[in-house]
This record gives sequence, structure tokens and C-alpha cells, in this order.
Amino acid sequence: MFQPLKLYNTINRELEEFQPIHAPFVGMYVCGPTVYGDPHLGHARAAITYDLLFRYLIHIGYKVRYVRNITDVGHLENDADEGEDKIIKKARLEKIEPMEVVQYYLTRYHDFIGMLNVKPPSIEPQASGHIIEQIQFIEKIFEAGFAYESNGSVYFDLLAYSKKYSYGEISGRKLDDLLSNTRELDGQDEKRNSFDFALWKKAGPEHIMRWPSPWGVGFPGWHLECSTMGIKYLGEVFDIHGGGMDLIFPHHECELIQSKAILGHSSVNYWVHNNMFTIDGQKMSKSLGNFITLDELFTGSHKLLERAYNPVSIRFFILQAHYRSTLDFSNEAIQASEVGLQKIFAAMKVLPGLIPTGPDQEFAKELQQRCYDAMNEDLNSAVLIAHIFDAVRFVNSIKDGSRTISSDDLNILKDIFKSFVTDVLGLKDEAITSSNTRLIEGLINILQAQRQDARLKKDFQTSDKIRDELSNLGVWIKDSKEGFEWGVK
Ligand code: ZN
Repeated sequence: MFQPLKLYNTINRELEEFQPIHAPFVGMYVCGPTVYGDPHLGHARAAITYDLLFRYLIHIGYKVRYVRNITDVGHLENDADEGEDKIIKKARLEKIEPMEVVQYYLTRYHDFIGMLNVKPPSIEPQASGHIIEQIQFIEKIFEAGFAYESNGSVYFDLLAYSKKYSYGEISGRKLDDLLSNTRELDGQDEKRNSFDFALWKKAGPEHIMRWPSPWGVGFPGWHLECSTMGIKYLGEVFDIHGGGMDLIFPHHECELIQSKAILGHSSVNYWVHNNMFTIDGQKMSKSLGNFITLDELFTGSHKLLERAYNPVSIRFFILQAHYRSTLDFSNEAIQASEVGLQKIFAAMKVLPGLIPTGPDQEFAKELQQRCYDAMNEDLNSAVLIAHIFDAVRFVNSIKDGSRTISSDDLNILKDIFKSFVTDVLGLKDEAITSSNTRLIEGLINILQAQRQDARLKKDFQTSDKIRDELSNLGVWIKDSKEGFEWGVK
């Protein structure tokens, strides 16, 4: 019934056939952003990767509950157990409330990710809205014997855990290695072992985001929110957990351990991780000055950018790479992508006008199957796009008369563009959107000219009627010194 989709499962390090627990329902959890800064290329790649998976699962008939969390508390600098909360630091620097930081960057995240045509998730829970559930989760870890309290904070006892379950299932790391790496660095007396991680942290007097708990006033550890909210919204075992490869350690390793500690088994069947961006071959980082936000990208306001790039080109550029490959950003690469994308949109404009004249051939059907095969092979959007270019060449050769197409084949060809370009890859032609805007502006100008004419003839009944009917459509119009103004209410 469903397509034979294969996904690379990070925990087993191999491609596996995707079999949801309760088909046609699929539960998918993805680690969303910590909202303390402007969304950047890395956010775009993660959001688009799981949007592609979400869209494809829906396209092949699944009913997906997609949960993508928002981290608004507990994520400390350097992903560590000590140090300042990233959001509180930003609030201190900007002299605003932490929740103002959260609201501001969350809105910007939604706006910019939305411009990339990323569908919203089914549920978008925030860590600060699930403090009670996180406290209950810690209590269960205590009951299982894997937590201990120390000086008002609670830590996960990894030594105790490792006697019962294996450690390093996702990251492949070993406890001994962690011990030698962290002993010197941490020097924290609170922990029994330096590799233990925080479940609950005591809040110092300067720590603004704080809640009461059985262990005193504090805040939850970063990893806890995802274990808690994943199980809360998707059940004790769910199908897919996604995130960037940079989250594998420590975040996902700790998440898996916490859930296994209270359930006795893993709560995730398929772990999916997307690779990172590089910029002109270098890792993206603030210190290298090559950290490009989406705002800068869309406006061209970054020294590395030759000009502004439109969101659909960025989306296409990201999808031209397989999600598990590194992706190098450069002006040349994105400009080459833009040219390719315009060819696809040009073919889509020609498509409705093609006239079927020839006999049936297998080409369209084979091409459609190759598109599914590409997506079924671990969401290989790079190969899918190569097939779409074959479809573009097919359209162009029918247009110039060098080949013919049957009515059935033409319908399949149209379906390839609709299903894969529009629905699955989520690419929409912004030129068409902006031509719609121009059309509306033109129509308003015509109506305003008629309104003006009527007024000159003292036919106020007609001029008012035009204004009122526009108003009924939600459009306001008023006269001004320069002529007139209008807008949407
Ligand atoms: Zn997470």
C-alpha cells in the first residue's frame, strides 16, 4: 500500500525499510531551535530536511503527527551543565525579559522558515510550558535508580545506568573516553562522575528563569525537554526522531538514555540526522565571520554575499544536496541553482499548453517511478531533482515539436511536476506570486480611476459604491495628497 521507503537509521548505522508502528499513523519528533538568535542557514537546512520528510510521508499516504519543539529554557552555553543560559545571556545583554527574547526570535524563526515554504509542525511545544512534566520525569528516573541529588541539583547517574544498559548507542562514545576528556575540564564536585549530566539545576540568585521543585528552586536540564515532550505527544514508542548531526552528542545520547531509564526500552525506532552547512569550505561560525542569517541572505546584507537571494532559491539549493551530505554555500553555487530552478518553473508554465498527439510511450511512467525510487532511497532529493530536469527536457522537446506525447503520458508528466516539485519539494514560483501582486495593483488602479471619474461627474453614489465594495473585500482606499492610498485591512 505504501511506498517502500528506506531511511538511514543513525542508531543502527544502516538503511532500513520504514515501517511505522501504527500505519497509516506516523509519529515524528524533531529538535527545534533554541530561540536566542536570528535563524540562520543551519536552521534552514534542518527545517527543510524534516519538511521534506513530512511532505513525502503525507504524499505517500501517511497521517503524520509532527512535533517540533522550541527550546526556551535550560540550554546553557557550550551545551554544558555549567555556565549561563543562552536566552538569559541574551536578555541580560539586551536589557529585556528572557521571554521577550524568546518571543522575538520565535516570531522571526516562524517568519523566515515560513518564507522558505516550510510547513508548520502539528504541535510545537515549548520547554518552559512543560516544567511539571519534566519534574515528573525526573521523579521516574529517581524511581528507576538512575538519578541523585546534589546541592539542590539533580544529575543522571551514568555509571549506574551503564551497569544495566549499554552506553553510547547513538554516538558510539564510551564512558571511559568521556571520563578522561572531562575530568580535568569540569572539576565539579557536585557530580559523582564528571560524565554525569544535569536533569535539574539549582538556580543561582542571578538566574531569572526558575521554578519550584522537590529539590528546590531551579530549572530543567536541556536534554530533558525532548524526552518528556516526545513521549507526552507521541507515546512511549514513536517512529521517527530527527535533528542536526551536531545534536547526536550529547543531546540525543542523553535523550535516549533518559527515556530508556524510565521505560526499559528506547522510545524511538528511527533516528534521522541531517548534515551541516559549510561556507566556502569552512565550518559556519560566528568567530570566522561567515555566519549567515536568513535575514542577511534574503536582503544581501552580509559581506560574503554578492547580492540578495530569494527564499525559494535557497530552498532549492538546500534540496539539491542529499540531507546527509555536507553542503557548501557559495555565491556561485546558489546562482547556478537559481538558473536550474528557473528552467523548472519555465517548463511548468509550458506544461498546461501542451497538446497530446502521439502514441503511448513508457517514458513518463518510468520517469515517475524513478522519482519515487529516489525519494524511497533515504529521501534522495538530489537524485529526484536530476529526474525533474529530465522531465523538463521532455517538456521542452514536446514544445519544440521534436517529440510527441500521448494524453495519458501527458497526465503522468503533469503529475510528476505537481507531486514532486510542488507538493514534495515544496517549490513555488515566486515570480507568479509577484505577478499576482502586480495584477491586483493594476486592478485597484483601474477601480480608483473609475472612482475618480465618478467624483468629477459628482456621481458620488458610484464612487462610494466602489469604495464600499472594496471595503467588503477587506481593501481600504482613501484619497491623499499624492493621489490615493490603499491597503488590506
Ligand atoms: Zn531535542
